[in-house]
Amino acid sequence: MRLIKGKPVSHGYAIGNVYIYKSFSCDTFESYFEKDQECGRIEQYEKAVELANEELDEMISLLQDNNDDKYKIFVAHQEILHDEEIDEQIRNLILTNHAMPDYAVDKTFSFFAVILSKAKDPLIAARAADLRDVRNRLIRVLHGEKEKNLSILANDVIVVAHDLLPSDTATLDRTRVLGIVTEVGGETSHSAIIARGYKIPAVLGVPEATAIFSDGEKCIVDAIEGTVYMRPNDTTIQTFTEKHAQYLKELQEVEKYLTTEPKLASGERISLGINVASAEASDEYKYCDFVGLLRTEFLYMQSDTLPSEDVQYKSYLSVIRNAKGKPITLRTLDIGGDKTLKYLELPHEDNPFLGKRALRLCLDNPGIFNTQLRAALRASAEGEIWLMFPMVGTIDDIRNARKAVEHAKAELYNEGIPYDENIKIGIMIEIPAIAQICDLAVKEVDFASVGTNDLTQYTHAVDRMNSSITDYYQSFSPAMFRLLENIISTFNKAGKPISICGEMGGDPLAMLVLVGLGLRKTSMSGSNIAKMKHMLSCFSLQETKEIASKVINMATQQEILEFLNEVLIRAKSKTD
Ligand code: PEP
Ligand code: MG
Repeated sequence: MRLIKGKPVSHGYAIGNVYIYKSFSCDTFESYFEKDQECGRIEQYEKAVELANEELDEMISLLQDNNDDKYKIFVAHQEILHDEEIDEQIRNLILTNHAMPDYAVDKTFSFFAVILSKAKDPLIAARAADLRDVRNRLIRVLHGEKEKNLSILANDVIVVAHDLLPSDTATLDRTRVLGIVTEVGGETSHSAIIARGYKIPAVLGVPEATAIFSDGEKCIVDAIEGTVYMRPNDTTIQTFTEKHAQYLKELQEVEKYLTTEPKLASGERISLGINVASAEASDEYKYCDFVGLLRTEFLYMQSDTLPSEDVQYKSYLSVIRNAKGKPITLRTLDIGGDKTLKYLELPHEDNPFLGKRALRLCLDNPGIFNTQLRAALRASAEGEIWLMFPMVGTIDDIRNARKAVEHAKAELYNEGIPYDENIKIGIMIEIPAIAQICDLAVKEVDFASVGTNDLTQYTHAVDRMNSSITDYYQSFSPAMFRLLENIISTFNKAGKPISICGEMGGDPLAMLVLVGLGLRKTSMSGSNIAKMKHMLSCFSLQETKEIASKVINMATQQEILEFLNEVLIRAKSKTD
């Protein structure tokens, strides 16, 4: 047995078998073989087709056994694999041009994918993604690599990876993943946010985890203490089985608050929102007042091409249906930083978090931006949507984004397509420069929401992905609370809605202070709603004000955290 420490970012326990996940890079190079090797190379290609076909067969029967309709996708992949035109072109390249099999596969599939992606009919264009999938499968088999995929898992597993990209987590099979361990990442990296959203226990920042662990071996993830147990003995397994059961029992106790109204002990109502990153229906919508953050990146990440206006429109309509009349804060595309799109080539940047990210990228790619704005505006005719821009740094950013909205509105107007003319326009406050001039920004917008994940990163100059410097990433620092105090009071004075949608917004400890500073609206992962309602019910407004006035004068994060934890323990002992 061996213990390895990391950062617990999504609470809970998991006991299971390790699944090492390494995403496969399907790079091929233009390469040719010597004459007289034709037979061997063709055999190599045929063998790869056979193996790929077997993999697909296995996947199909697994999905059919689970009554999962996704099996049809893989039936379609088999058809592509055996497509005569594609096969003939690959064979030709190998036999006539002496192209290496992987290069011949790449060249042929790219040729057909480009033709398909240009098709006007979105259904046909979407087939390009299937072509790319089959291409990747064939090339992987030709390179002798085993299949690694998080979207279809045969057994319950604990995923161990260097990092999970948002594109991996977007399609992850949540029913099978018991726990997550990664080598990099911290509290607010996107894999942590997704893990919390899915309620999967996760410990991040475990150095060399993929080298230390082996596929299939037993492991325990203690995502309370931040410890991962490798090959645990029977006594440890027994101990953690009991701890897990106790944890689930306590969780159930707090879950009772899920259906209650979010009110302070003195009766003041706090508006609670949820952060959403998919169009799927969920019970969480029932227990909140609004959607405080719709991370629209999911649409772009689940796809192999830029999602069309119609695809986006339909997806936003699904969220409107889920929310049943509750307002939805739709954040425009936030790509860049750690979030990339495999089909959108972005120039290399030495500091991507300080680069052409989010709104900057959208303003620089008006076509992409306009498609999303049109889809969001069209959806606004069907339900209440508030439009919100990420990574706003200057007043110019706000004005330029507004211009883009006006442009999209004018287009729709000329085409006779309905939209909400009075759609609310807001910003995320996550760059200190805009926080500093929030008295000016407030005049330009209808509302704002604070992205405390990035605001902490940029205020403290600490990369939120870098697990070696997490001690410097201080969301509870005096600097953060002073910045937040200014933002909250400025928006309150102007009578415009202000909320938090970063991770602090779902942290009961932080909210204890923020409510005292005047915050009345916050948004969080749905998994935090119950404990937030519980915490609010334990404190009066006067108590939160007293707590806030003490915290705002403290000098260090440690002092603040110790004080808040003590306050919480005292409150808990009163209610027990
Ligand atoms: C934030 O920065 O706090 C935020 C909510 O945005 P994201 O985590 O998606 O960058
Ligand atoms: Mg952000």
